Amino acid sequence: MIEGQAREECQAYVVRKFGCGKCGKEYQSQHSLKRHMQVHTGQFPFYCEECNKGFRDKTGYKEHQDRHAGVQYKCEICGKAFARLRNRDYHMAEHANRPL
Ligand SMILES: [Zn+2]
Ligand SMILES: [Zn+2]
Ligand SMILES: [Zn+2]
Repeated sequence: MIEGQAREECQAYVVRKFGCGKCGKEYQSQHSLKRHMQVHTGQFPFYCEECNKGFRDKTGYKEHQDRHAGVQYKCEICGKAFARLRNRDYHMAEHANRPL
């Protein structure tokens, strides 16, 4: 059936990949590729493979990776969990200011 063939061709067009000219990585969209290119410009040398996010410094990158891994930062005093290390530190500082 000609109709069915036409649909297949159309799908093949949709999954067309955007390849990085520098390292050969392939992306589903030009937007993702553009974000990936930041890693080569050195603007964001730390780069998350999972969501194509670039990071300026290693600390932010590591914290981001931990979030993907589902790591939570717990308050050593009351056990409250935080997704971000900064928020946990901020929370713990509040304990120091106002002891229980
Ligand atoms: Zn690349
Ligand atoms: Zn990520
Ligand atoms: Zn606490």
